[in-house]
Amino acid sequence: NSMIATGILATGTYVFQAEVRRDDQVVRDLEAALWSGDLRLYFQPQVSIDGTIIGAEALLRWQHAERGLVPPNEFIPIAEHAGLMRKIGYWVLQQACRTLADWQRHPETAELTLSVNVSASQFLEDEFEQSVLNLVSTFDIDATKLKIELTESVMVANTEQVVAKMHVLRAAGIGMALDDFGTGYSSLGYLRRLPLTQLKIDRSFVQDVTEGERNAALVRSIIQIGRDLDLTVLAEGVETREQLQWLDDGGCDEYQGYLFGKPMPIEGFEAALSEQVRQAAG
Ligand code: C2E
Ligand code: CA
Ligand code: CA
Ligand code: CA
Repeated sequence: NSMIATGILATGTYVFQAEVRRDDQVVRDLEAALWSGDLRLYFQPQVSIDGTIIGAEALLRWQHAERGLVPPNEFIPIAEHAGLMRKIGYWVLQQACRTLADWQRHPETAELTLSVNVSASQFLEDEFEQSVLNLVSTFDIDATKLKIELTESVMVANTEQVVAKMHVLRAAGIGMALDDFGTGYSSLGYLRRLPLTQLKIDRSFVQDVTEGERNAALVRSIIQIGRDLDLTVLAEGVETREQLQWLDDGGCDEYQGYLFGKPMPIEGFEAALSEQVRQAAG
């Protein structure tokens, strides 16, 4: 890849070539991280309107020896470009299923759902859906607690193929959420054909919901689309009580955001859960 990139930009600047070399190094480091256990899943709570934790979204982190905790936006595009996302994505799903298996062994955590982000290229791989079903059966988990988050970018592919893959997963009981809803370019007609279970309203809309009636009206229509399609509607990136109030008035079902908790290591997430159970007990 780097040879092609450097070739095309043979007249390019030193800066660009340094950039490419750095990405090569990142790819080598990432591959090493995959084997040495330096990739981590963080867990961000998803809550119902009364604030009860009903599940989590699994978010990838890279615990880098020198650079510290690297967020996914800094390495996923590079991994994707280098063809490494297949392995990384599989690792994420495997970790997620292992976590669900663990949760399902204990009554306090048995009902929790876990959402996993799947990139378009990963979803479109041959046998992707079969590999998910295999993991579900290997870990012997209740598939209805696993949720796959896709973005509108899958829609660049052949519709029939996307719909067919989704149906296989849905038939096994796996949830299907459309992530970052409203930021893509999908038509509503298209949306109606997808066997989804959840719409996630993008943070950019949530952020602005309290900034004037036009923004609030926009969010209300997004929620209405979700209702019309019989989907649960989750608002992402909720940071203030004021936003929560607007979203609740608008009819949102579930929430996620710093107001309820940041993404955290599994120990932190489980501690937040026990705290909730303790408080509920009185
Ligand atoms: P996303 O799926 O939209 O995930 C939500 C992002 O918003 C997360 O960023 C989360 O930390 C952040 N966030 C949540 N609540 C708030 C809030 O209240 N305020 C603000 N400012 N931010 C909030 P993160 O963890 O950096 O992930 C970025 C993106 O990387 C994700 O966006 C997702 O597209 C991608 N990603 C993460 N993990 C994976 C993975 O395992 N596989 C794939 N394919 N993509 C992943
Ligand atoms: Ca997501
Ligand atoms: Ca999102
Ligand atoms: Ca409500």
